Amino acid sequence: MSRGATHGNEALRASSRFPALFSPIGVSAAEFRGLARAGRAAAAGRGPAGPALLLALLLSSCQPRFPGTGPAETPDPAEVPGVSLSLEGARTPGPVTLLACGDVLLSRTVAARIERHGYRWPFRHVRDLVSSADLAFCNLENPASFVGTPYPGKPAEVTFRAPPGALFGLKWAGFDAVSLANNHMSDYGPAAIRETLDYLDLLGIGRAGAGVDETSARAPAVLETPGGRVAFLAYAEAGWSVVPAGPDRAGVAPADPARMAEDIAALRRDLRPDYIVVSVHWGEEHERHPGPAQREFGRAAVDAGAHLVLGHHPHVLQSLERYRDGLIVYSLGNFVFDMSADSTYDTAALRITLQGARVRAAEILPLRIERGDYAPRPASPEEAARILTGLRDGSRLFGTAVEIEGARGRIDF
Ligand SMILES: [Zn+2]
Repeated sequence: MSRGATHGNEALRASSRFPALFSPIGVSAAEFRGLARAGRAAAAGRGPAGPALLLALLLSSCQPRFPGTGPAETPDPAEVPGVSLSLEGARTPGPVTLLACGDVLLSRTVAARIERHGYRWPFRHVRDLVSSADLAFCNLENPASFVGTPYPGKPAEVTFRAPPGALFGLKWAGFDAVSLANNHMSDYGPAAIRETLDYLDLLGIGRAGAGVDETSARAPAVLETPGGRVAFLAYAEAGWSVVPAGPDRAGVAPADPARMAEDIAALRRDLRPDYIVVSVHWGEEHERHPGPAQREFGRAAVDAGAHLVLGHHPHVLQSLERYRDGLIVYSLGNFVFDMSADSTYDTAALRITLQGARVRAAEILPLRIERGDYAPRPASPEEAARILTGLRDGSRLFGTAVEIEGARGRIDF
C-alpha cells in the first residue's frame, strides 16, 4: 500500500503549469499537491531537470505548511536529477509485493449497496489483504462521475457510471493503481472520463489506460516503493464501446502490439522503472481459456520488457503462464461485480513478489464474491479447492505448474 502514487500524465500537466504556479506569494494546497507530484515525476526522470530541482527546493521550503501531505510526499533527495549517482543495472531492486485483483464494478447493483451501506461495503472483507501488499492493483470497470451522456445505443443495464464517492472504497481498501482501459470507460462519454481521472488524482490513486487524449491514455502510472519503482501501462482490446483516445479525444489506450512496445521502450528510457506491469482488457467473456490473440499479445508484452502481464474482462479466472522470466495472468476474473452466472463469483487475488528485476514468486489466494452483497471474501476450503484445481489444470496446458498447498496456490520461479 504505497502512498507515493505518481501518474505520468498528471505530472506532465502539472509540469506544464509550473511557470504560472511558481509565485513568491505562495501556492494553494491543491496547487502544492500538483507541484509535489510534478516534483516526484521529474525526480523520476520525466520533465526538465532545472524545474525539477527548483521544485525540490520549493517543496522542501513549503512542506511544513501542509502537514496533511505527510512525509511520503517529500521527494527523496537521492532521486533529484543531477544529484543521483545511480546507473541503470548498477542496483539490484529489492522485493516488492503486488496484489493483483480483477474487475471492480461500482455501478449498477453494487452502487445501490454502497448507497445503502457506505463506500466500505464492497471491500470490507478484503481490506487487510489489499493493504498488506506494497502495491495493490485492479481494473476499474466504470467511470465515476456526476456528468456525461450515455453511450449511444448501449442498453441501460450495461451502461455504467458509479457515484464518485464509491471511489473512496478503493482508497480505503488500499488500492494504489487502477487500469481504466476497458469497454465501459466511455459509457458516459469524455466528460465522465475527465471527472474519473480527476477524482483518482485527488485520491492519489495511480491510473493508466484512459486519458483526455492518446498521449495521456498511454502514459504510465508510476509508483515508488521501498523495493523499487513500479510502472503500470494499461490497454484495451478493440471491441464494442471501446473508444480509443485520439489526438484530441478522450478515451482508452488500444491494445496494439507496436504501440505497446513503443510505450515500454519510452518508459525504460525515460523513467527506468525496476518493474513494468502491463494490464490488458481482452478475451471472451465467460471463456475459461485464453485465445490466440491473448497469448500473442501477452507474450509480446514480455518480449518488449514487461515483467508481469495482468489480464481481465472474461469475468472468470483463466490460466497463468510462465513465459521467459515473466508471468502472464490471462484473466483475474471479477473482484467486485454483480453478474448472474455463478462462475463469475469464484475468483482469486494474486500476490506476486517482484525481486531482482524479475518475478520471484506468485501466490494464488482464492476468493468468493458473496452473492447479493457483491463483496469478495476468502474462499471456503471447498470453494478454494474448486478454484485452484481449475487454475492448475488450465495452466498445465501452457506448461506452467500451479502447486496447491491447502487453500492456496503457488507458482515457483
Ligand atoms: Zn470488460
